[in-house]
Amino acid sequence: MRLAGTIKHSMVNGPGIRFVVFFQGCTHHCPYCQNMDTWDPCGGEAVEPESLTMMIKNTKLLDGVTLSGGDPFMQPYDAAFIAKECHNMGLSVWCYTGYTYEQIIDGMAPEGAIELLKQTDVLVDGRFEIDLKSEDCLYRGSTNQRLIDVKETMANGHVCDWKLTD
Ligand code: SF4
Repeated sequence: MRLAGTIKHSMVNGPGIRFVVFFQGCTHHCPYCQNMDTWDPCGGEAVEPESLTMMIKNTKLLDGVTLSGGDPFMQPYDAAFIAKECHNMGLSVWCYTGYTYEQIIDGMAPEGAIELLKQTDVLVDGRFEIDLKSEDCLYRGSTNQRLIDVKETMANGHVCDWKLTD
């Protein structure tokens, strides 16, 4: 798989202390994207999924892992493998994507996207929209983007928002 980079301890990409994985490659090309270096699917560096999960395993004090980008749904099988391994470590998994939840369910994301969705606890969905940019959106850039509780959503058949509990 190809990655743009990682951050071992972040407190701004979801609740608690999180390991952030920035996947390389994004075809959404949102105007005013702040990560344009991640667009080229051939950019970044090649990383073995197993070596990344080992790095996560050896990182202390983590509450969870956040898959960001770029768009992790452009490399869904590798991202799903990492998410599953993180769950096995007892870590929560957040995933950012330019696709909406409905687009993923309707098969408009790359093959394998459902596998990644099933391994995601919270999906931060939708393209960044500059006209809807807001500093008040928790963990998001624009108001169209949602924090979706994936398990609740799949169980209930309609989109359920994730809620901050602590
Ligand atoms: S989905 Fe994210 S990384 Fe991709 S273009 Fe939009 S803001 Fe940038």
